[in-house]
Amino acid sequence: VEGTVFNIQRHAVHDGPGIRTLIFLKGCPLSCTWCSNPESQAYGPEVLFDQEECVGCGDCVAVCPTGALEQTEDGRIVYRRELCVGCGKCAGECLYDARSLAGRLYTTEELLEEIRKDEAFYLTSGGGVTFSGGEPLAQPGFLGETLLACRETGIHTAIETTGSAAPERLEKIIPLVDLFLYDIKQLDSEKHRDMTSVSNGLILENLRRVVDSGASVWIRIPVVPGFNDSVEAITPILDHARQLGVSRVHLLPYHAYGSNKYRLLDRPYEMPGTRGVDMKQRVETLLTSLDCRELTVHIGG
Ligand code: SF4
Ligand code: SF4
Repeated sequence: VEGTVFNIQRHAVHDGPGIRTLIFLKGCPLSCTWCSNPESQAYGPEVLFDQEECVGCGDCVAVCPTGALEQTEDGRIVYRRELCVGCGKCAGECLYDARSLAGRLYTTEELLEEIRKDEAFYLTSGGGVTFSGGEPLAQPGFLGETLLACRETGIHTAIETTGSAAPERLEKIIPLVDLFLYDIKQLDSEKHRDMTSVSNGLILENLRRVVDSGASVWIRIPVVPGFNDSVEAITPILDHARQLGVSRVHLLPYHAYGSNKYRLLDRPYEMPGTRGVDMKQRVETLLTSLDCRELTVHIGG
């Protein structure tokens, strides 16, 4: 089985216990307004193009097999995304890093080899591998096979999930996962839909499924200004965690680090007014007003 991976991050310490390797899989059924990895959302490979870095050498135009790239008389590169098939040849040719490809195919064996390079760190720190995205459950066959391979090698497995997946997909994956980092963003379904494009019904049903299976779960709440950065929005999520018997919750302060990538993908960034807001400070203040009985609530990770 092959899958599309857009990033591998090593020596991570915020996405599960110990030192971890993060594997970012392409494809997501949600499109959250604040998403810091917009290149994760589409299912296939995508080119990020930085017009400001381009010197107009024209090397990319010469290798493009589909005519997606053209050079104007004044040397500018015109990129027609609708003609691009994501082959990555232009990115391989560009010496100026003006074009880069998000997403390349890996077989399970290739990916396991990458993961095993960090095995020594897992052993000394109690770490392992965390599959993120996008939504890792969007590639269930590849995810399942790679999780199984990790299991057979004795590597601790975690997935960072939106919970938005067909229940039968999820149920096949549950026995292969040591820890679920499960995102809950908002209990008000209308508000959830407004900012993520989907309602939260299936996500909450799946959370119950995972908890009922006996799997280990940490709930993660991305705290986003104007969406859920209030006691009124977070309290119902903490109550829900308590009712389910999930005791560990993480509040993840919103940040705008990914905003530049929207420009490189020719997409609008819908949260420009939030730049400069100190969300870590905001979340720290919020935490002092929350009822955290029976819970361990962390900021970050
Ligand atoms: S990824 Fe391939 S098809 Fe798309 S612009 Fe580059 S060379 Fe052309
Ligand atoms: S290869 Fe790179 S620098 Fe040259 S024209 Fe293409 S994008 Fe610009």
